[in-house]
Amino acid sequence: MGLDVQLPARARLDPAGLRTRLFIDGMWCDAAEGTEIDVLDPHDGSTITRVAEARGMDVDRAVEAAERALPAWAGMPAAERGRILLRVADLVEANAAELARLETVDTGHPIRDTSRLDVPRTAAWYRYFGGMADKHEGSVIPVDAGFLNYLVREPIGVVGQIVPWNFPLMFTSWKLGPALAAGNAVVMKPSELTPLSTLRLAELLQEAGIPDGVVNIVPGYGNSAGWAIATHPRIRMLSFTGSTAVGRRLVEASAQSLKRLHLELGGKGANIVFEDANLQQAVNGSAFAIFHNQGQACIAGSRLLLHERIADRFLDDFVRLAMSIRIGDPLDPSTEMGPLTSAQHRDRVLGYVDVARAEGGEILCGGDAPSAPELAAGYYMQPTVVRARPDATVSQEEVFGPFVVVSTFRDEAEAVRIANSTEYGLGSGLWTNDLSRAHRMAHLLRTGMVWVNAYKRVSPASPFGGVGGSGYGREMGFEAMHEYTQPKSVWVNVDAHLPNWYPRPDPAQ
Ligand code: NAD
Repeated sequence: MGLDVQLPARARLDPAGLRTRLFIDGMWCDAAEGTEIDVLDPHDGSTITRVAEARGMDVDRAVEAAERALPAWAGMPAAERGRILLRVADLVEANAAELARLETVDTGHPIRDTSRLDVPRTAAWYRYFGGMADKHEGSVIPVDAGFLNYLVREPIGVVGQIVPWNFPLMFTSWKLGPALAAGNAVVMKPSELTPLSTLRLAELLQEAGIPDGVVNIVPGYGNSAGWAIATHPRIRMLSFTGSTAVGRRLVEASAQSLKRLHLELGGKGANIVFEDANLQQAVNGSAFAIFHNQGQACIAGSRLLLHERIADRFLDDFVRLAMSIRIGDPLDPSTEMGPLTSAQHRDRVLGYVDVARAEGGEILCGGDAPSAPELAAGYYMQPTVVRARPDATVSQEEVFGPFVVVSTFRDEAEAVRIANSTEYGLGSGLWTNDLSRAHRMAHLLRTGMVWVNAYKRVSPASPFGGVGGSGYGREMGFEAMHEYTQPKSVWVNVDAHLPNWYPRPDPAQ
């Protein structure tokens, strides 16, 4: 990269190689008010770089650019849009090592995960929706004789997309893939905490041939840039992934512009282990369900419901596994758990340990920052297992960290009652070898996704989203294409004899 200065020991990214300005209309530009955001490395709290901070005027510019770009992009043959997205997938793969490193340093997500999951999935998402672009068909509807009625799915227009900080690269692909395949233009706001991979992606989008203005990236804070997107009268749809509290505010804000909303909100996944399960598989899968990405996942299995007959045996193994998880520098390939993404969030998660104790919860392991001095400056936390009542605060509220709450149940009915007792309804899992039970439970769990003898599986082809406090609408698959298009019904008189509703004497006679 031709750096002529020595990088400080802790600078794990080449600052000269980072994109740090707003990406509007295919150009890199400073924020109108000259504002900037410090981007921190969660491993040690050092400043990685500063990026331009978009505010209302910048969002306005981005919307104008998107509006200008929209007609040509929407009018482009779908197969050509698809080809461009397939090139994005290829470019993500060609730059995989760099993207994984960028994501790891910015978010704290271990490099073994970003390189094995996030980056390959990102490519897979662009590839899937690249292939989808010319396969999302309308339909012909049987109506009255003499009429042809057909339904076309048209792009919505300028779409706003707001993503959180937990899987920025992957979530950007979940949203951009279908939105672009369907022919929309986008104003995207990454989280103020983790904008770096999205900005790098903008370069790859441009290289792949996405026309100027079709995708505009405006990093900024939620209550300025985010709110400007949410309330913008000419943004026709908002796809938001984030907390339930902000989701509610966005619903209120949408009343004025009546924008279409797609909300992927919080979760409090119940992960249910029955007495007939393969316990070794369940222990491993349950650890992945909660500790992957430090538990910062909306679909995390953050409530562990154990059948009372196997609870002690399961917990012995589970706690031993939790305590053996290798915590460390996320850039070290042997690290299994990195830091949480921000200091404020780590402190919030630690705060829930006190809440659990105050309500009579028992801390089975963890509950603190790790003691290793080399991790002291970072936002680390031990894997934490807490036994608490199903109605305790920590069993009801989303903690969003390496923090799992354990309770027991006697039978299926009690498991269902506990599982369905929070306001959330995103994902849930169950471990059993009883086939009938598996299907029965899958039907009874009030969530948008259910995993049987697995947890947290995702695919670009399989609908992803929640019910209740976890939001509405779906990412992935044909469902996502429906989100990003609006149906238009066209009636054509091909041979119909219309009744004469207004019989009048013929003036010629
Ligand atoms: P958050 O709601 O605070 O922020 C999410 C995004 O919204 C950020 O980009 C933020 O800047 C922006 N934002 C904040 N306030 C805003 C406002 N008033 N107007 C417009 N935008 C605003 O959430 P977070 O702390 O960044 O992320 C964690 C949350 O996201 C958790 O609740 C988690 O469950 C949820 N999440 C959900 C899914 C899902 O698919 N359902 C996936 C990942 C994360």
